[in-house]
Amino acid sequence: MAITPVVNAIRVLEKMVPEGELLFISAHHSGQHSGVLKSGGLNMRIKDFVSWVNREAATHNLASQFVPDDPHGPLQVSRFRRTLAWHIARRPGGLVALAIQYGHMRTVLDARTSSRYGARSRGGIHTVLDVETALAADTAARLRDRLAAGERLSGPAARRALTAAAQAPRFEGRIVPRTFVHKARAYLARDGIVLYDNPEALMICAFKHDVAMCEPDPGATAPRQYDCRPGCANTVRTDDHALLLRERADELDQFADRLPPPLARRLRTNASRLRATADTHDSTPPQTAEAPR
Ligand code: SF4
Repeated sequence: MAITPVVNAIRVLEKMVPEGELLFISAHHSGQHSGVLKSGGLNMRIKDFVSWVNREAATHNLASQFVPDDPHGPLQVSRFRRTLAWHIARRPGGLVALAIQYGHMRTVLDARTSSRYGARSRGGIHTVLDVETALAADTAARLRDRLAAGERLSGPAARRALTAAAQAPRFEGRIVPRTFVHKARAYLARDGIVLYDNPEALMICAFKHDVAMCEPDPGATAPRQYDCRPGCANTVRTDDHALLLRERADELDQFADRLPPPLARRLRTNASRLRATADTHDSTPPQTAEAPR
């Protein structure tokens, strides 16, 4: 499991190297005869890439696309690890993906699958992830943007989601001191108004522990999104989700056309259920915010 930009990058590499070869095979990328590119070679390519981006930005007068000098030193592969991990960890099931891609990160899984943010005893990337997750709050910020653009919300937790969107800080990117961790934990512990995007389930989870159907551990401050269940009272959907529900229903019907009757029936039933959910969304009147409880 990986996020779309990572998959796209892998697909590009697959086209660049002969079929069946390692993606970073030296013979193809650098003309050397054995092994794969080492970090020195990769770092040089990153440097060349930044120079190319800046040259193109200057040529096309795109000041906003310029890659500035980094006060922490040159961009190198060792620094991408956290960037990738941050993006992966924030997807549903992302922690499992992290554990697969970064096999040694057992501590991340230990700490996060149980969702006991306060119980953590070891520093490291999981602390950084918490801080950045809390800072970004981008599910709520994106929701606020969608609402501003006129989107409607549906689902039992829609009013809580509106409140969360109204309260969300805008993430602009900043470096925070280690002491920010406890603020991040407090932010994530606001039961009922922290929003978790769940694109696989085509919904947003406004996590409230008492009503969660995914059976979070006692005291958990995050849902077990990989075990998200239909009918949960924490569900929220936007117009976008309703559209995607219909698209997925159409896909299921297409699959069903090619399957034996018993399986086809099951897919068509699922497709009808998805359309019914989309219909319910479309018929939901606009919601107004409520104070958090
Ligand atoms: S079951 Fe409920 S609480 Fe759990 S992830 Fe799904 S919507 Fe959220």
